[in-house]
Amino acid sequence: MKIMKFGGTSVGKPERMYQVRDLITRDAEPKIVVLSALSGTTNALVSIGDAMSSGDKNKAKELINQLHAHYMNFIEQLLKTDNARNKATTIINEHFEFLNIILKISFNDALNKDILAQGELMSTKMFSVYLEEIGEDHVLLPALDFMSIDANDEPQVLQIRAKLQKSLEAHPGKKLFITQGYICRNAKGEVDNLKRGGSDYSASLISAAIEASVCEIWTDIDGMHNNDPRVVGSTRPVEHLSFDEAAELAYFGAKILHPASIWPAQHFNIPVKLLNTMQPEAKGTIILKEADSEGVKAVAAKDGIVMIKIKSSRMLLAYGFLRKIFEVFEKYKTSIDMITTSEVAVSVTIDNTAHLDKITMELQPLGELEVVEGQTIVSVVGNKLTQKGNLLAAMFASLSGIAINMVSYGGSMHNVSILIPTGSKNDTLKALNKGLFGLE
Ligand code: ADP
Ligand code: ASP
Ligand code: MG
Repeated sequence: MKIMKFGGTSVGKPERMYQVRDLITRDAEPKIVVLSALSGTTNALVSIGDAMSSGDKNKAKELINQLHAHYMNFIEQLLKTDNARNKATTIINEHFEFLNIILKISFNDALNKDILAQGELMSTKMFSVYLEEIGEDHVLLPALDFMSIDANDEPQVLQIRAKLQKSLEAHPGKKLFITQGYICRNAKGEVDNLKRGGSDYSASLISAAIEASVCEIWTDIDGMHNNDPRVVGSTRPVEHLSFDEAAELAYFGAKILHPASIWPAQHFNIPVKLLNTMQPEAKGTIILKEADSEGVKAVAAKDGIVMIKIKSSRMLLAYGFLRKIFEVFEKYKTSIDMITTSEVAVSVTIDNTAHLDKITMELQPLGELEVVEGQTIVSVVGNKLTQKGNLLAAMFASLSGIAINMVSYGGSMHNVSILIPTGSKNDTLKALNKGLFGLE
């Protein structure tokens, strides 16, 4: 059995949904198809939630109406028969009725998650009505029946496996399953999600849960590129990555993959392919256990980073000192991305600033603090990087003139990271594209 995940752009227009149908029906292997919300929908739902939480009901109502009109138009184009159109209209109207009811009751975080879940619920239901209209036998599997996170917001593959097996066993002989990416239930049984871009994570978790033959991530670009194509003019796809390399790139900002989406596939050794819905014959990227070569594969950047520098006049690195620092971050469930030390100071970076105030308050007694916001981590990722003597020389030669706040080298063989002000990101990515890949 294989997993095929289609992102927002891949289902964002009726003709794209027709392409998805072609792709999922071109071989006989049983499959679970994971769909995102139509492109733009989750952003719209976030705006609706924001308007509600700030008490601006008129704005929320206006956004709901706009989105509703978009879906009515989509149905009109996607479906051809009155029967299917009526069915889809009834379904979509129910979802918008739900949004309008939320508008009338007092807003809270759990309701916000209900709002965010509407996108994937609507895209999968519309696609299911379409498959039914053309006589394509399939089952719509509700992700909320099997996808779950624990009290620490972590998905547990074995729990998902047990529940998913039950869902699948209820449909013996069926070969095509459609389900929602992104959405899940939390430990309280409420509707929750796997964070923005989480459909990739859903696909990887499902692949691990059923030990799929492959996890195919279908998107709007022909694989993982060597640099961020939104910033750098000339980039090229990377044909092969190891799980370690792909995990570093995803974690350090390559938007094509959700930051956590590699570990489930890696843990169960499921090959992952990154493919382009609009160009299905392009090779894309294959992600397997082993790397195929040594050296640099790609560069990625992660914004929204805060650097915290703790400087002490006493012997900073006396034993137990780092533990005291780390305990503060642990207490507030805030993970540290980069760390550098000197005799008198330690600098760390975080991307989750939810508890920044409390963290800095508790770090204060340990030394003099400096908190610098607006930072970006740029990571150079590849295989056996630390054994390539000339990499650092090439990297820093290309970056002359760019102020670098931190450098992390040697933590793994797959990654060299630098911290720069976000304002220098574009120049840095372009300079590395030239210096490391010879691309302008
Ligand atoms: P989907 O909706 O299919 O999940 P995303 O927008 O989440 O698609 O991810 C695909 C986008 O990721 C691409 O269109 C591209 O702009 C962006 N991207 C950023 N870095 C990379 C990279 N290194 N390689 C490929 N795409 C990247
Ligand atoms: N629809 C969700 C988002 O836009 C999840 C996803 O597309 O992966 O973040
Ligand atoms: Mg995505």
